[in-house]
Amino acid sequence: MPSLRKNFLYFVLLCLFILSCATASTNQASWPYIQSAIKKDPKIEKKIQKILSQMSLEEKVGQMVQAEIKHASADDIKKYHLGSILNGGGSFPNNNKKASLKDWVSLADAYYLASTDKTGGRVGIPVIWGTDAVHGHNNVFGATIFPHNIGLGAMRNPLLIEKIAKATATEVLATGIDWIFAPTVAVVRNDRWGRTYEGYSEDPALVKSYAAAMINGIQGKGKETLSANHLVSTVKHFIADGGTNNGVDQGNNLSSEQELMEIHAQGYFSALKAGAQTVMASFNSWHGKKVHGNKYLLTEVLKNKMGFDGFVIGDWNGHGQVKGCSNVSCPQAINAGVDMIMVPQDWKKLIQNTIGQVKSGEISMDRINDAVMRILRVKLRTGLFIRGLPSKRKYAADNKVVGSLEHRSIARQAVRESLVLLKNKNSILPLDRKLNVVVAGSGANDIGRQSGGWTLTWQGTGNINSEFPGATSIYDGIENVVKSAGGSTHLSLDGNFKINPDVAIVVFGEIPYAEGQGDITDLLYNWKYPRDLELLNRFKSKGIPVVSVFITGRPLWMNTEINRSDAFVVAWLPGSEGVGISDVLFKKEDGSVNHDFKGKLSFSWPKFADQTLVNFGDKKYNPLFSYGYGLTYKDIDRLGVLSEVPFASANIPTPKDEVKVFKGRTLSPFVNYVGDRANWKFPLNGDVGASAAGLVSVIAIDKDIQEDARQVTFHGGDSNYYFQSQSNLNLSKFVTTGVLKLDIRVDKRPNNEANILMGTGKMNFNHYLNVTSLKKWETITVDLKCFADKGADFTNFNMPLSFATFGSMQISLANVEVLAKKPKSKIKKVRCGN
Ligand code: BGC
Ligand code: BGC
Repeated sequence: MPSLRKNFLYFVLLCLFILSCATASTNQASWPYIQSAIKKDPKIEKKIQKILSQMSLEEKVGQMVQAEIKHASADDIKKYHLGSILNGGGSFPNNNKKASLKDWVSLADAYYLASTDKTGGRVGIPVIWGTDAVHGHNNVFGATIFPHNIGLGAMRNPLLIEKIAKATATEVLATGIDWIFAPTVAVVRNDRWGRTYEGYSEDPALVKSYAAAMINGIQGKGKETLSANHLVSTVKHFIADGGTNNGVDQGNNLSSEQELMEIHAQGYFSALKAGAQTVMASFNSWHGKKVHGNKYLLTEVLKNKMGFDGFVIGDWNGHGQVKGCSNVSCPQAINAGVDMIMVPQDWKKLIQNTIGQVKSGEISMDRINDAVMRILRVKLRTGLFIRGLPSKRKYAADNKVVGSLEHRSIARQAVRESLVLLKNKNSILPLDRKLNVVVAGSGANDIGRQSGGWTLTWQGTGNINSEFPGATSIYDGIENVVKSAGGSTHLSLDGNFKINPDVAIVVFGEIPYAEGQGDITDLLYNWKYPRDLELLNRFKSKGIPVVSVFITGRPLWMNTEINRSDAFVVAWLPGSEGVGISDVLFKKEDGSVNHDFKGKLSFSWPKFADQTLVNFGDKKYNPLFSYGYGLTYKDIDRLGVLSEVPFASANIPTPKDEVKVFKGRTLSPFVNYVGDRANWKFPLNGDVGASAAGLVSVIAIDKDIQEDARQVTFHGGDSNYYFQSQSNLNLSKFVTTGVLKLDIRVDKRPNNEANILMGTGKMNFNHYLNVTSLKKWETITVDLKCFADKGADFTNFNMPLSFATFGSMQISLANVEVLAKKPKSKIKKVRCGN
């Protein structure tokens, strides 16, 4: 009977296989039940039932919808029974960046009054307004801006976290807003991710200890829980946003369920225990399935197993990404367990469709009732029904709390404690106050830069110092300390000076970004921001000691810059209190240490630019600086010269079928340059700015999302705009079938010959630029053969796109890529030029 035995063996193996698959994806039993600090209150539960029984279907569905303030008026709230509103990043009352506290509060009053209006038999449920106060009340003019979470992670100080959360809550109360979309408890595993700085750490234990402290600070604890001094918080983004494949924003997480629990869920365990009332569903997928449509995770795990009885809020049109859904229709998300849909703009249609889906039975009445009950529960628990008019609430429009000295001093302490000292050769730090100091670098006097994304605007770009009343730049702090002690400071962003200084403090770093626009493919810095290295070299070559202060949203490969610096300080994204940096860099007047460094890396620091996935606890852990590293003034630094070879693997991989050049920003290995007679190779930091003689200038503009495109103005005179890589690529396989593909909009026609180039292949482009519709975006392709015929060498290739003219013109560009094959979809093909 050998064959029978064999069959039996196969059968057993098959069973084992099925069993292991099943446990890998649905090991329900092991998720812990979390006992929330906020228990069910029978009185509230009774009230919920009573209110629910009075609500019409329209009122119920309206309750489940959150619209954006730009797209919903007070009348809309009333007419469509909207349960909630939000202001997105960079969205303010009357579209006014400098909106006053009164402006905020009166808008809140208008929404509140409309929502509670009972005419015509409306139940009149108070609306709940949510905002992204993710590092202080960051959309509000004059608010205290705290360091971003990555900096807070370095502090290792949950007590201070609670104070920060409390201060933030108070400033939010001053604007009449009820709810904060924070904390982010992402455990960030791949530093390519554009939201790395929104995470406290790669270490789940640290995230866990902070998450509870944040909830205690925002919502209050003990008797203070959800009192008039506090408001509702959100833990986000559920779940595993920090662990997507390749760190792609909104990407796919391939963790096992065990890893979800051990790594990505740790922040939820402590936050829900502390009583967090809302959870935001994440944009990402888990094993290919969007979380917004994942009933297992949202309902089985979060609500049933973990016992969460608050509500799940969707993310910004996150439902629209579920398979089979659009922004205006997604029964799948509601059925999966999203209780409130964040649908900023198209909410009217979504309401209509959802009502239809309930009537047709696609969404059950039970599910609707459950969602509405959860929302009402949170509104009742936080006293929204009795808090009254926003303008009458505690702290409303109180100018004494927003940006108060008390809050700024908490932020300043956080700045001091978050700084991480990576190098301190010959103990050059701390510095004497009486020195002659040059302060250089593009980040030295730029409060917007030091604050990062999610600051006044969504991307954090386009802000100027005068838009931060009460704040200090890093330079302000240094000037203050040095001048009062009798030393001298000279602010010289470009590093020019007349008298040799005793020391140069060079402040540089990433240009702000938010979400997917911050995604990168490797951790190279100096190819993207080459001017900073030039600056360091300039001081070094003159024998001037250099203290580098690095502003960044993540660890990057900085070996070259570290080699050129005597001291290297990572400041992360410190926010509005730049003065916290000089607190630590300089001694007291009597020469003793003022404040020592306390910060320790909460993310491992990479040894190579392609070491994007390096985490404490890895089997083969080989970072440059380990998790927890950070010098103090007591340490003697013995760091030697670091290797300046960026990649662990031989070189940039040879591209297979596409080379992305620009998507939101210039992608590595390319750098964006402009050229004119004063400098033919002038790198643009952050892809904006002007050429050396000013003949070309570039600004960021919006195409599909904020600042995902660039508008290039040629003012007249020989000049160009181009992308170039430092190392050559071999694209020979692309030549015969490939295309250059880009989005382009002609804003002003050329008044002279205008050329397009790939490598040395230059052809005239007037036949396109002079005739296509003006001011209209269009996607075009140009065959690579056109350029090859004009002499482009694709085997040794480094310049994927250049525009050059003697005349003036204005063009806008987005999404530039080189493809090995023509795309299948119909895209306008521009013929070869002369
Ligand atoms: C982000 C969330 C944020 C929401 C509202 C989304 O794009 O992912 O973190 O809370 O927008 O602004
Ligand atoms: C909003 C952000 C939002 C983002 C999502 C922006 O326009 O201001 O709050 O997170 O869009 O794409």
